[in-house]
Amino acid sequence: MAPAIKALLFDLDGTLIDHDTAAMVALTQALQAIPGLHQVDHAHARRRWKQLEELAMERYLSGELTFTGQRRLRVTSLAAELGLGTWDAPRADAWFAGYLHHYESAWRVYPDVRPALDALAEQHRHLRLGALTNGDADQQRKKLLHVGLASELLAVIASSEAGAAKPHAKIFHQGCTRLRLAPDEVAYVGDRLQTDAIAATNAGLHGIWLNRDNAPTPAEPPVIQTLKDLPALLTKIDR
Ligand SMILES: [Mg+2]
Repeated sequence: MAPAIKALLFDLDGTLIDHDTAAMVALTQALQAIPGLHQVDHAHARRRWKQLEELAMERYLSGELTFTGQRRLRVTSLAAELGLGTWDAPRADAWFAGYLHHYESAWRVYPDVRPALDALAEQHRHLRLGALTNGDADQQRKKLLHVGLASELLAVIASSEAGAAKPHAKIFHQGCTRLRLAPDEVAYVGDRLQTDAIAATNAGLHGIWLNRDNAPTPAEPPVIQTLKDLPALLTKIDR
């Protein structure tokens, strides 16, 4: 019998690329470059930066803020909270440019990515691979190039081009259309239970939750704790 699953789409940040570590490393470096900023509680600043990013990204994905606008909001909010006063747009943009340089230099794949892709190539030779991500298409493609995955993940579907963001079914369906496959021929793996795994399942794909933090696990959808378990899980789903 021919395999039921013909393509596998990955979420990017938190699934293939360790966005959190890159962002935290970059924040520390960019804060250290601010003249006159002493005695920063870096752990607190990192927590706030992550929270501000979540909030600003949500408003970007809903169309309320531009990609640049969400960056400025994060920077000006953090600067104010650190007692640096009110930053105007040029100052925020200049600081963010420094942050971005550090962030991009710190882009890495998780250690389980390479072994998983090699095992998939061996055990699921027919499988087409791609990425489906909430974010800016140019930046997400740049990430894939930087970490050396651009030639393997041929289809890249980003919310900025799709006109819809996860958890909306529309972006998943656009991914399937791009692959010329039906939703039930496509598996989707991501690190967020609701936004990735459940949303993909609701759109008719085979949603898989990558539970990297070992959080409590529901009965459905299928869950893995490392991408190394992906080939075996796909075999099981295919049966
Ligand atoms: Mg993610």
